[in-house]
Amino acid sequence: MDDPNDKRPATSGAHDNFERETTTDLDDETVDKPKGMPLHTRIFIGLSVGVVAGVAANMALGGDDPRVVWTVANITEPVGTLFLRLLLMIVVPLVFSSLVVGVAGIGDVRKLGRVGLKCFAYTLVISALSVVIGLTVTNTIRPGERVDPATRAGLEERYGSDAAKRVADATKKPASADSGPMQVVKTLIPSNPLASVAGIRAGEEKQTDTPDMLHLMLFAVLLGIAATLVKPQVTAPLLAALQALFEICCKIIDIIMKVAPFAVACLLFNNTARFGLDLLSALAWFVVTALLGFALHMFGVYSLSVWFLSRINPIEFFRRIKTVMLTAFSTSSSNATLPTALRVSEENLGVPREINGFVLTVGATANQNGTALYEGVTVLFLAQLAGIDLTIWQQLGIAYFAILGGIGTAGVPSASIPFIIVMLATYGINPALIAIILGVDRILDMCRTVLNVSGDLTAATYVARSEGFPLLGRDK
Ligand code: ASP
Repeated sequence: MDDPNDKRPATSGAHDNFERETTTDLDDETVDKPKGMPLHTRIFIGLSVGVVAGVAANMALGGDDPRVVWTVANITEPVGTLFLRLLLMIVVPLVFSSLVVGVAGIGDVRKLGRVGLKCFAYTLVISALSVVIGLTVTNTIRPGERVDPATRAGLEERYGSDAAKRVADATKKPASADSGPMQVVKTLIPSNPLASVAGIRAGEEKQTDTPDMLHLMLFAVLLGIAATLVKPQVTAPLLAALQALFEICCKIIDIIMKVAPFAVACLLFNNTARFGLDLLSALAWFVVTALLGFALHMFGVYSLSVWFLSRINPIEFFRRIKTVMLTAFSTSSSNATLPTALRVSEENLGVPREINGFVLTVGATANQNGTALYEGVTVLFLAQLAGIDLTIWQQLGIAYFAILGGIGTAGVPSASIPFIIVMLATYGINPALIAIILGVDRILDMCRTVLNVSGDLTAATYVARSEGFPLLGRDK
């Protein structure tokens, strides 16, 4: 068992061939030279092969060509899905074990409260900044006023039925009769953690395969806290078992990541081969607005954060997290990227396991800056398109909603869409207009997920440094 008072980053004996090969690691001098090609390079090659093959197939044959449809349905989609599901399969045991061990490792309730508070304050401030950036670029560029009416009609026709289905799904839930505080209680506290993990939501007929991460995390945090209050002789076997579970999960990720380059090629092929490339130019202003917002937040705000709060050179930071960024980009899922993020943060940034266990696992669901930014941009864009002039107060309301969206949106592909639909309905904008952006959503989802997970890593380095842990393997 790790000594909870030991402030050195926990080392992970089981991860011999994962990130060690991807980076210079904490201490460039002492680490073994990587064997073969680094993982991030292999993933990058897979990504490039997928894009080139997908775009070539799309241009040469067309997205609806039976051969393209067959290849996607029988080869690339199953392989991509295999990889995604393997990663998602490991999320529940990994989050549970890393959170319980992490919280028990922090060891003291006051310190945990401090870490939790810093994490919460950081999330709020950085999410608010992302939304302000998003709304500012959208108000400046005004992409909604630049959409050609013929393009608009074409998109509404092409994606209308898909949009109608999604609107029906997002709005069919009857508005809850619970008061605000009651909703907070139910959102945070599970009455049956197993049902939460199984995706069974009270009052909803449909069972999902997305576990309720907030419930799982609250249960794990409570277990970890209580473990620190019980005699160590009693809790040691359980904590040792959970530590073992964590290490085994890490080993499984090692194995899964071996197929990452192939799977990423398939995922990218799926996204590009059947994608109407014409959509990118038709919605160029919207895409450019969202990408500009993402870039400003990623390279401006995150760089300032790691520079001033974590004392890490931003270029060094981004260099060390590139495997995480590539995984997020290819999977469009913060949850599926969480296992990689936990490993990279510990091994490449030197953030100790007890901080990662808390900040990254909570952040994967609750700190989604790219999502918050995108939700704000999209609602404003569609309002502009519908000719609705939103007042400054309404825009502040949208900002508030978008920040909540960043906290409440699940870390899975396209999770923003239902939230945007509800926001549109709330502001009197026709929710069916979501059809306009559905075609480009996947590409932008890949980009916003990179921001989501990178933001969790900036939070982890900030919290670790402010708690006095040395980062990047430096001595204090
Ligand atoms: N795909 C995003 C994520 O997993 C969520 C979203 O749709 O914005 O972080």
